[in-house]
Amino acid sequence: MTTTPAVFVGHGSPMNAIEDNRYTQAWSAFGDSFAKPTAILAISAHWYINATAVTSMAHPRVIHDFYGFPQELFDFQYPAPGDAKLAQHVGDIVEPVWVGLDDETWGIDHGTWSVLAHMFPHADVPVVQLAIDASKPLDYHLDLGARLAPLRDEGVLIVASGNVVHNLRAIDWRSPEQGFDWAQRFDDDARAVLSSDPSDLATLAQSDDYRLAVPTPDHFLPLAYLAGVASASATTPDVFVEGCTMGSLSMTSYVVR
Ligand code: ZN
Repeated sequence: MTTTPAVFVGHGSPMNAIEDNRYTQAWSAFGDSFAKPTAILAISAHWYINATAVTSMAHPRVIHDFYGFPQELFDFQYPAPGDAKLAQHVGDIVEPVWVGLDDETWGIDHGTWSVLAHMFPHADVPVVQLAIDASKPLDYHLDLGARLAPLRDEGVLIVASGNVVHNLRAIDWRSPEQGFDWAQRFDDDARAVLSSDPSDLATLAQSDDYRLAVPTPDHFLPLAYLAGVASASATTPDVFVEGCTMGSLSMTSYVVR
């Protein structure tokens, strides 16, 4: 039996949903690199609430959770079905962690669909989103990632979507292909930790660059899920595309195979 990979994707701007660049090309190539998954469990930086929950509706709505972008992006649809059975199953396998079932509030947000639009452009794989519990420390998310790892043996693709470095206040629109020194340094430090021992992810909080790279935890925490999957799978993640953009965003993405 083959094990389905798990990924952390640096999603960057919502515009990536409709653009064609080296990052979106890498996401597309990744989607073509293994057998089509039975379902996708997506952990997006943009569902950041005070609870652990999964979407369980049959037809998750597409959420356009941003402002000031072209109409084309607000019109964008990603009509993937939901998967109520998987939602229930997630709750069972992570016990005693409690997982709420959301059948009306959330849906598929742009952290998820901007990436899946390239990986699975036909929107023909069911998608369940997992909320990131903002009230919990990093260790909780690492542990939850580890508990989710067995889904890989059932053909479920785990897609964690955030950015290792994400500081919108420091964005430099004139530098589409570059990161500030501190951003690149933190991105390198994260790669060093992930490639040696992913369970050490918390040590990055001691970096001098952490405050600028991770001003809020929402985009960083999805990485903890992939680190947890890697630890549980007794392996380390590989980089499948890397780089910084607009000064203060890292687009670096990792895969666990
Ligand atoms: Zn985002």
